[in-house]
Amino acid sequence: MYALRLAAWKSDPDFVQLDEPRPGPGEVVIRVGGAGACHSDLHLMHDYDAGRLPWRLPFTLGHENAGWVHELGDGVTSLELGQAVAVYGPWGCGTCPRCRAGVETYCENPAGAPVRGGGGGLGLDGGMAEFMLVPAARHLVPLPAGLEPATAAPLTDAGLTPFHAVRRSWPKLTPGSTAVVIGAGGLGHLAVQILKATTASRIIVVDRRPEALQLALDNGADLALTADEDTVRSIMRQTNGIGADVVLDFVGSDATLAVAAAVARSLGDLSIVGIAGGTLPVSFGSMRHEVSIQTTYWGSRPELVEVLDLAARGLIRPHVTTFPLSQAAEAYRRLAEGTVAGRAVIVPD
Ligand code: NAD
Ligand code: ZN
Ligand code: ZN
Repeated sequence: MYALRLAAWKSDPDFVQLDEPRPGPGEVVIRVGGAGACHSDLHLMHDYDAGRLPWRLPFTLGHENAGWVHELGDGVTSLELGQAVAVYGPWGCGTCPRCRAGVETYCENPAGAPVRGGGGGLGLDGGMAEFMLVPAARHLVPLPAGLEPATAAPLTDAGLTPFHAVRRSWPKLTPGSTAVVIGAGGLGHLAVQILKATTASRIIVVDRRPEALQLALDNGADLALTADEDTVRSIMRQTNGIGADVVLDFVGSDATLAVAAAVARSLGDLSIVGIAGGTLPVSFGSMRHEVSIQTTYWGSRPELVEVLDLAARGLIRPHVTTFPLSQAAEAYRRLAEGTVAGRAVIVPD
């Protein structure tokens, strides 16, 4: 089969031929139906020196996957051949308290996990291939009726990550509240939909790209602002000088974190989701009082079930631009240049 693999740090991936994976006991092979191209993969390819991440190369990219059950390893009885499934991406040990609660992002026994702090596409072979090996059946969540793998794939990260971040701030997203979404790309356009579907907050979106702002407006944003030197003033004016109850930063640069801090209302939440590597100096008085600053990472398996339910009921819908597997490198090039609408999803040719 063909696969897009990362062979060296600080390099572009290669399109290569590989043997098809076969499942061992307890494992499952899926036929990939879609693999999302996440901006984190660009950070992964270009920002990290050898030794910075605890993963061995090469591995196949793609940590946002869905498909159909293709082959079951011995002892797997919970799935049927041909069944449509989404892949829960972070793969922990399965037995520590965090994993038992479905929060495998924060497995506390990484030595017992198939890879330290990762999963398929993050240290192990991911979904930018025709087939993908999944090391345990619990990572596969059956797709509700009406959801196709190519649409469902982005929900496992571009949907799950903002859902986790928004869900954490639900108590502050009351009627009359304001949420600010900075960066309306793959994650951000779904953040807007998730805010709309699960809260009564007013949604202000900030991006540099007119197309991203238009997509956000089409997906339920109340106001779209071009990121510039007036962003803070505009948001403060729009909130009658009090600021936003919840700010979700899907960029995470020095510049966007400074905007986020300047517009966060007292008692508000500032969630750092983007991993552009910026920093935010924090001290008493550096922002309004009692702003909670949090980083969030991906989400839990129970939350993935909730995200899939929102999508199956038509309350959220990823805006997808598909690329054939042979054009996966081109999808990343387009993502880097900022010309993908919504999420790029790689579909086997
Ligand atoms: P994307 O490229 O699809 O979207 C990023 C958006 O931000 C684009 O629309 C871009 O125009 C906009 N943008 C860039 N700089 C900006 C600025 N200064 N001001 C306003 N808007 C700006 O990327 P994505 O796949 O949605 O990922 C977003 C970020 O989230 C990346 O850093 C990615 O690595 C990270 N991420 C984090 C997690 C997590 O669990 N924390 C999970 C997935 C992705
Ligand atoms: Zn990702
Ligand atoms: Zn664990």
